[in-house]
Amino acid sequence: MKKIFCEVIVDIAHSNIDRVFDYLMPESMNAGIGYRVLVPFGNKNIEGIILRFKDSTEVPEERLKEVSSVLDDMPIVTEDQIELAGYLCVKYRTTMAFALRLMFPAKIRGNRIGEKAEKVLVLISEEALQTEIASCYTKDGRIKAEKKLGILRTLSSQKKIRYSEAGGALASRLQEKGIVSIEEETVYRRPQIQLDSSVSEFTYTSEQQKAIDTIDRAIDGHENRTFLLHGITGSGKTEVYIAAVRHALETGKTAICLVPEISITPQILNEFSKHFGDIIAVFHSALSDGEKYDEWKRIRNGEAKIVLGARSAIFMPLEDIGVIIIDEEHSESYKSDNHPRYNAIEVANIRSKMHHIPLVLASATPLVEDYLKVKLGQYELIEMKHRVLDLPLPPIEVVDMKKEFRNGNRGVLSGRLIKELGEVLSRGEQAMLFLNRRGYASSLICTECGEVVKCSHCDIPLKYHKDRNVLLCHYCGRTFGLPDTCPNCGSRQLRLVGTGTEKVVEELEKYFPEANILRMDFDTTRKKDSYTNIFRQFREGKADFLVGTQMIARGLDFPNVTLSAIISVDSMLYSGDFRQEERTYSMIEQVGGRAGRKKAGRVIVQTFSPEHYAVRCAEKHDFEGFFEKEIEYRRQTFKPPYTRVYSMLFVHQNEEKAEKLCEKASLMLKNKLKAYENDILLFVSKDAPIRKLDGKSRFHILIKAKVNKDLKYIKDIIYDVWEEVRQQDGVLVGVDIDPYSVN
Ligand code: ADP
Ligand code: ZN
Ligand code: ZN
Repeated sequence: MKKIFCEVIVDIAHSNIDRVFDYLMPESMNAGIGYRVLVPFGNKNIEGIILRFKDSTEVPEERLKEVSSVLDDMPIVTEDQIELAGYLCVKYRTTMAFALRLMFPAKIRGNRIGEKAEKVLVLISEEALQTEIASCYTKDGRIKAEKKLGILRTLSSQKKIRYSEAGGALASRLQEKGIVSIEEETVYRRPQIQLDSSVSEFTYTSEQQKAIDTIDRAIDGHENRTFLLHGITGSGKTEVYIAAVRHALETGKTAICLVPEISITPQILNEFSKHFGDIIAVFHSALSDGEKYDEWKRIRNGEAKIVLGARSAIFMPLEDIGVIIIDEEHSESYKSDNHPRYNAIEVANIRSKMHHIPLVLASATPLVEDYLKVKLGQYELIEMKHRVLDLPLPPIEVVDMKKEFRNGNRGVLSGRLIKELGEVLSRGEQAMLFLNRRGYASSLICTECGEVVKCSHCDIPLKYHKDRNVLLCHYCGRTFGLPDTCPNCGSRQLRLVGTGTEKVVEELEKYFPEANILRMDFDTTRKKDSYTNIFRQFREGKADFLVGTQMIARGLDFPNVTLSAIISVDSMLYSGDFRQEERTYSMIEQVGGRAGRKKAGRVIVQTFSPEHYAVRCAEKHDFEGFFEKEIEYRRQTFKPPYTRVYSMLFVHQNEEKAEKLCEKASLMLKNKLKAYENDILLFVSKDAPIRKLDGKSRFHILIKAKVNKDLKYIKDIIYDVWEEVRQQDGVLVGVDIDPYSVN
């Protein structure tokens, strides 16, 4: 009898043992590629996954061990997923064990989750049931036992009923009488979908039709093309996604659609569910473990043909994918903040290449680096420049807060905004007020000329750090004292920007004591359903004003909202990272997109920098103009995509340990990077802008390199050093490429 060997990747996420081990497959066991097994490793049994079978091995017989047991009756990862994990290992320098962990719900490891079984009553005698039903009536035909009758009727029509619905007493009586048998049945735990059943009838706009045709052709032709769908807010992008997904299904394929945040999933989910019903699986981090497990299982079984979810959904074991769609492609939520720091769009790109299918990246405000790819011929542009039903984009009104200041208004609400809010109240309508996400620190801005105090070396706004009372450059780490006067105009009127939601609510209460105000931010939304609750209250008209961070700016339709306002774009415009301008542009457009969907709406934007090109262009809805300015600015100031920034962060309770390792890595890097000296534009190694977080000390290295043919080697060196120093002395070391923010 020929012996069969298998290569098993053991589930130890440590780089030193990221290799496969050969085991002997006992004849009695049934398993294939992707199966989870227990194997002897050292002196205990550990979990692993079979990656390959073969009929010979290099391992000498006396050292070869047997697979101890097979853990599931189905593979836990598909062959596609194993291939994908292989690509991730190369791209993000992660281990196979770690990459594979992205592919299935975490709780499966160690059998910490499984199927849920529920007791059901299964009808075995219709005749006996009818007798029982008859006994629910009195002789003269009146109903005696109404509740029981209802249950029995359901049982009669559905042939089974949940034990919990029938109740224990009734269940045992029916069983004794031989009417039903009580059985265990697997049930799916599914995330709740609240369907609004309204089906809207319309014909596609010509732009929608053109977009749909283009994508459909690529699906038919199995073409690996990347489309950038640039559609203004309200141009009807969701319908294009639905059409593309439907086309994929019609041709026997499946589809993945990624959305940025849980808070907006309900709406797209609602639309998708109306069209596709039960073949959708939803996958995001806010699901319970049971829900994750069951949704994953429905995908793997082939019961679900469409995966809709946040970034982690890109790894799901869908077979025969026909198209991948990414909504709001500019969203930073596609990048993982844990190791491996994958970007779901890059992963989507890999998957679309693997399966040779089209990838659709959609946004009203694409990332400038992606728009550049259109110009360079790497992406194909699909444009939707008009709103459906030819609704106009709402006019955006920019209020100069410098003038407010000069006129003696030191508050956060301008006179203009207060007046508009008053009118909204008197008309019985609603308003939404946005702030930037709560930042760690704020910038110093001149209320006379609008200048923000910047790093003299990096041209990046400095951040105020209260603990040290200094201004700090998050880019190069230099610190500066607080100036008394504006470096631009000499005025003494300098002020820290960055207002919290509480402050805004406070001021609103002062002006409008009669108004009902809802607040939505990180603090008020920590509980699982709080988003939905706050939105529901607002939709039901329980409040006049909703104040929130821009997490409420996307994808929500409130018909009674006639005023949207951004309290201050400045804290975003001067947030200190290389995307600050495009995020500002995007935020204004997104907020603008909220208004005027049904009723005519108004948008007010408050800022100390009304003349900034990001504000100016957004005011005119001029994306092309913004892109031209921004990309040129990036080129001149050596920012991505013209350079690449790498960061390495060292975190440990013990300050000395973190610092020592940072120094050591820094020396190693300096040595190894010598040959590329001319490509390195910046190299700093010191305490991180946020020196302490959660009681742990933080040090970092920042490297900025030119984008040219050497970049690959530089990246490899950085990863090599990282691999060498990570988790030495228990110091946590992370690397990040083009970090969204440096803290
Ligand atoms: P976007 O995502 O591009 O901002 P949506 O997909 O949210 O826009 O569409 C905006 C609204 O327009 C939705 O309520 C949608 O049902 C509706 N809609 C989409 N396509 C059409 C159409 N061809 N005619 C009329 N209404 C449409
Ligand atoms: Zn000034
Ligand atoms: Zn600097």
